[in-house]
Amino acid sequence: MQRQESVAYFSVDFGDKDIILRGKSYPKGTFATEMLNTDRDTVTKLLSAGAPIFQIFQDLIGGKFSEESFDESKSAILNLTELLFRQKLFLVLDIPTEIERIDKMFSEDSKKLLVLFHRAKLQLQVEQQLGKQSELTEEGRELLFFGERLMHDYIEMMRFYTYAPHDIANFLNAILNLEREKISTLKKRDESNFAKVYDDFFSDEVIRIGLLAQQVTPMIAGYNTRPAMQTEYVSLVRPGKRQQHILARRIYFCRIMDFLVADFCEGLHVGHSPKQCEICQRYFLMTNGRHQKYCNGYAPGDKKHRSCRTVGSRIARDNRERSKDHPAKVEYRKRCNTVDHHLREGKIDARFACKVKELAKEKMYRAISDNEYFLNLYQAEMQQKAIYKEAEELLK
Ligand SMILES: [Zn+2]
Repeated sequence: MQRQESVAYFSVDFGDKDIILRGKSYPKGTFATEMLNTDRDTVTKLLSAGAPIFQIFQDLIGGKFSEESFDESKSAILNLTELLFRQKLFLVLDIPTEIERIDKMFSEDSKKLLVLFHRAKLQLQVEQQLGKQSELTEEGRELLFFGERLMHDYIEMMRFYTYAPHDIANFLNAILNLEREKISTLKKRDESNFAKVYDDFFSDEVIRIGLLAQQVTPMIAGYNTRPAMQTEYVSLVRPGKRQQHILARRIYFCRIMDFLVADFCEGLHVGHSPKQCEICQRYFLMTNGRHQKYCNGYAPGDKKHRSCRTVGSRIARDNRERSKDHPAKVEYRKRCNTVDHHLREGKIDARFACKVKELAKEKMYRAISDNEYFLNLYQAEMQQKAIYKEAEELLK
């Protein structure tokens, strides 16, 4: 029987530069990069919401089960998913199917079956220890068969929600460090350089120990350089070409870390990497090697609701204008040349020359920062006659 896809088990089709997730295409690296924008507070809340699940999960794999712990796990999972399903990656997954799956798992019928199954299993164990071999009734066999299956699904569900918060936290720790220490310092952002720094980073023993120390618990594996993936090759129609089929790679994931690692590395492979926007400080996916400083999102606090890119290019233009090419500077240099010339010819003295230059500099700075002044008054005030007159007045 094929396992139904949901949040805890989903497939992704990997193309050349994009992935297709639930019918929508995204550049490789999109989700790994977006995950880097999860704030610390959210991570802490996710981890604490996941803590009771972790505890019950450990009991379960140790063979412990009770009605109370089952009820507890239900409220813990509802509590965690409340928060988890608001995160960007989850919003694109099949949340309705997952909610249905959770409801079914924690129904009264399921609880009854699990309680009976657990009791029967314990009794069998006791009998085995005593060397008794009692014949199972048809009903008893059915109970063991369906109970075993449901218990397996229950444990798998608990495993997924135990790992999810830790996977987010551990992925963030690793990749934020990699980005800050290695990727952001690269002069050339291409696959070759990404591959080199990725390998340097994850094969460094000191870094590995540092990352492990940042994990909430060493019991849950951290960043995994060998993600678990189940691959299927599927025949798909080439987009836009109905007659042509392609054999695409479909990958199934049952752990968030595995998907994030695959998305991130496949992204690096095609030259996609996370970059921090200089305006809003959020990470965005850079899909070419050119150094792009700003993202396409809305700039926080900008009254005109412009994007970071628009605000950024405005700032860059202002900076350019402030540089030596600004027309106000050209005018200023011209005036200083006249002053130097007149000083050499003896037409003015050094004190006067100094005053004129000082005045000209003040006006030049004002013209650069105040466009209205530059357009209306600057030219006239910088005329040789006008500025000499002003200096004379001041020196009186
Ligand atoms: Zn931005």
